[in-house]
Amino acid sequence: MKKHTIYINAGHGSIDPATGKYMTFPTHGKFYEYEGRGYTAYEGVTNRIFAMLFEQAMQNTGIRIVRTYHRINDMDNYQRTQIANADFMRTRPDKALWLSWHSNAFGMQSKGQSQAPRGYSIFTSEGETTADSCAKLILDETELATAKRFGIMFRKDMRDNNPDFDINFDELTLTYMPAVLIENLFFTNYDDATLLLNKDYQQAVIQATKTAVLKWFEL
Ligand SMILES: [Zn+2]
Repeated sequence: MKKHTIYINAGHGSIDPATGKYMTFPTHGKFYEYEGRGYTAYEGVTNRIFAMLFEQAMQNTGIRIVRTYHRINDMDNYQRTQIANADFMRTRPDKALWLSWHSNAFGMQSKGQSQAPRGYSIFTSEGETTADSCAKLILDETELATAKRFGIMFRKDMRDNNPDFDINFDELTLTYMPAVLIENLFFTNYDDATLLLNKDYQQAVIQATKTAVLKWFEL
């Protein structure tokens, strides 16, 4: 039987239940809190919801799951990729994938954020890589499952004839395995931030991602 591994990342830090403090590096230069209509969104928290639901959904598929993130604390992306790379070198899977959960951000002001961009997009490192086909499968399945049903906009970069955006984020270039990063909606948009906490949306995204990943692993 072939050995398959998925290295799951959930971006940033989470809320420490002991102190209530949001444990995310401020140096990432992003807007992590959305405050409008009495609502605050924490990207690191919703990233972990999707990462955990995905991990649960992948049980009994024959794919081994390795977490590269801390339950609460933030870690730099180099550290996270080294957890994956060390495991990869030790266990030598036949096929492996780095899958990272994030949500996108726009602007630094909470006021008027409901007008800010919305939508789902997916990233791989620059150039044609073995991650491109996986990113396309995930985007296509997720679009099919959520675009009409939840009114989600799918952002695509078709300049290189595939729908993912190419960007050399550390976590996409430092991994020894193909790496895909999901920007699951914009947490800086009120309607998107609300969807991230919607259980029906969560399940639709998770099932679509699972279907896509199983296809990519040819299972
Ligand atoms: Zn993020």
